[in-house]
Formats: sequence, C-alpha cells, structure tokens
Amino acid sequence: MDELAGRFETEVLHTLHKKPEGIKSKATPIYQTSAFTFNDLDELEGFYQGEGNYLYSRVGNPNTDELGKSVAALEQAQDGVAASSGLSAILAGVLAVAKNGDHIVAADDLYGGSFHLLKSELHNFGIETTFVPFTDLNKVEEAIKENTKLLYTESITNPLLRVEKLEEVIAIARKHHLAVLVDNTFATPMHVRPYLLGADLVVHSATKYIGGHSDVTAGVVVGRKELIAEARSRIVNLGANLSPFEAWLTCRGLKTLALRMRAQSENAKLLADQLRENQDVARVYYPFDKGEKGYGAIVTIELGKNVDTDLFFKSLGWVKIVPTLAGVETTVSHPLKTSHRALPPEAQAELGITYEVVRISVGIEHAEDIIAQFESALEASVK
Ligand SMILES: *Cc1c(COP(=O)(O)O)cnc(C)c1O
Repeated sequence: MDELAGRFETEVLHTLHKKPEGIKSKATPIYQTSAFTFNDLDELEGFYQGEGNYLYSRVGNPNTDELGKSVAALEQAQDGVAASSGLSAILAGVLAVAKNGDHIVAADDLYGGSFHLLKSELHNFGIETTFVPFTDLNKVEEAIKENTKLLYTESITNPLLRVEKLEEVIAIARKHHLAVLVDNTFATPMHVRPYLLGADLVVHSATKYIGGHSDVTAGVVVGRKELIAEARSRIVNLGANLSPFEAWLTCRGLKTLALRMRAQSENAKLLADQLRENQDVARVYYPFDKGEKGYGAIVTIELGKNVDTDLFFKSLGWVKIVPTLAGVETTVSHPLKTSHRALPPEAQAELGITYEVVRISVGIEHAEDIIAQFESALEASVK
C-alpha cells in the first residue's frame, strides 16, 4: 500500500491481486487470464527452455490442458489438445499430418462441416481429398496415391449411424504407411476407442457428448505424442485455441459422460425397438446388433410415405427441433435441410438422406415419456 503512494488509479489495479497458490479448491479454478506472470527473466527464459508450463493463453492454459489431457486419458491416447470447435480440432489434426501437395482419402459420408472443410477450404490450400464410400474398402485402397498421407473416417456416421470397420481401415493404412484420423464424436470413448485399435489421431466435437449440455462449442484432438505436438502448433499459430471458461464448462460436463451416455444409450435402444414396430416408420437406423451397451444415443428414422413430415416436426411437444445433438434433452433434427444441406442432391440421394429422414438425439428423460412423445407425433401426422 505504502509503496503505491495511495493513488487510487494505481491502487485499484495493484492491491486487488489474489494469488490462488495454496488454496485447495475442490473444483478446478477457472484461469480466466490471457497471460501468466514471471518473477524474473530467468523464469521467462525457462518457459522457452520447456521448464514452465504457461506463458500466454493462446499458447496454453490450465483449463484447456485439463480438457485435452482428460479426453486423451479416456481414449487412452498419449496426449491431447483442446481447440475452439470440433471443426478446428479436425483442422489441427489434418494439418498435423498433411501439407500443401498432399492427398487425403476420406469417407463420403462425413459430417457436412468436415466435408466442406476438406473439399473447399483445404483444397484451396493445396491439400486434395478423394471421397469414397468406406463401405467398399477396395475403393479406399484404389484411391490411395503416391502423395496420400491420411485416411479419414468417423467411428459412427451421421446421420445414418454406419459403424465403421476401424480395424480394417487401420490395416489398409498400415499397409500403405498412412496415418488414420477418426472422428469419434458420436460414439465417445465409452463405446469406441479408436486409438487403442491403432488410429493415430482421434477427434471430438466436444460441443456434443463430451460437453453434453449444449452450452459450449469446443473440440479436442488426441493421439500420438509427436502428432499432438504438431496439432498444438497449428492451434497456437492459427489462433484456434479454446477459451478457459469454455474449457472449464466442457470439463464440468465431461464428469458425467458415463452417466449421461449410459442413460441416453439405454433410452435410445428402447426407442429404436419401439419405433421399429411402428407401421408409420419406414425405417429405423440404429446399430442394434453392436455392443452390449448399445451403440450410442442417436436414432435416425425414415418416416413412412403416409406421414406428413412437416406436421410430424410440429407435433413433437417438448422435443425441440435443434440443429445439434447430444444434449441431455431429447431433440430432433432434419439432416436434409441442415447438416447435409451442402451435399449435392445426387450425394444426398445416394446416402439415403431424404426429406423423410429424422435424426433423434435421445436424452435422459424417462424412456416411456420419450417413446410416448414420438408415438403421439406419428399418430397426429398420418395423412
Ligand atoms: C458437430 C460435429 C462436428 C463439428 O463440430 P463443431 O464443434 O460444430 O465444430 C464434427 N464432427 C461431427 C461428427 C459432428 O457431429
């Protein structure tokens, strides 16, 4: 106080310093700071020599590290880093492997945003992608060229829930000395752990199940240590870092992933079983025969020709139309007009994404209430 000479403008800044050291907070504090302080130039130099952990939040922050390293631990990967969105995690993962002049072979049923990133943005930076149906692994192998560096697919696809044969994709990659990147957003490490199967990089839109409460946009990429070091450099240099508060919220959501996912998957299985019996539903997409815990909490249906799709969406009561997924509330989306809008009509038709396709993100409400809501909406919308 004395040394500040009692001038208010200075005091208001420099007497407010609270140092968190030694305070044993049960929850991780939010390091809502753009940078970190140093006692002397030696300590500052130490950071560059790899001694200190934190310098500037774009470069690294305890909250974003907590998220990256927690997801890495759950995937049993060597290391992980958080990013500002699922898409920026994908960008960082791809650019950890591929550069100008390189080639990627990707599944033709990737998430719409990922498709766009590869097809347009990365194309403009000189990275070419060939999209092939990963349902035919001969086509994958045929698409591999001399400059191919990466195979890219999703463990469970959106919205038709095709379960990727990861072991076979990884075997092709090994044979041709390629890296494999797997988007594990829909499955989560509770259902599938691609890194343990041999994938080099695993990405998540943490906006979805990792966060789980529809209140953050975030991403994570985990994998082999040296590739994550590259991905981290891309995130730092492209400015694709996650904010401390959003990382903190995502970590808070992550704590209940097992409970949420178990409840949501069980409800999804019950709903899928019920809708399969309903004559007004032409088709139910759900990986019924996979895994004893079920394969995730998304159920996609194709409404029967006798059902008015617009009326169905209007008749769902508390089930809201939301162009995202994985929150604790049950929601529906219309893939043709949202996530898969950007695909050419032929590709939409070929994948089977028609006007009648409805993607259901099953929540944690009571299963009977969820089922009742869908059955009454079907009843109300029969033509
Ligand atoms: C939502 C989603 C993304 C993109 O994530 P954002 O957080 O929206 O950037 C990527 N892949 C899959 C499978 C997704 O569902």
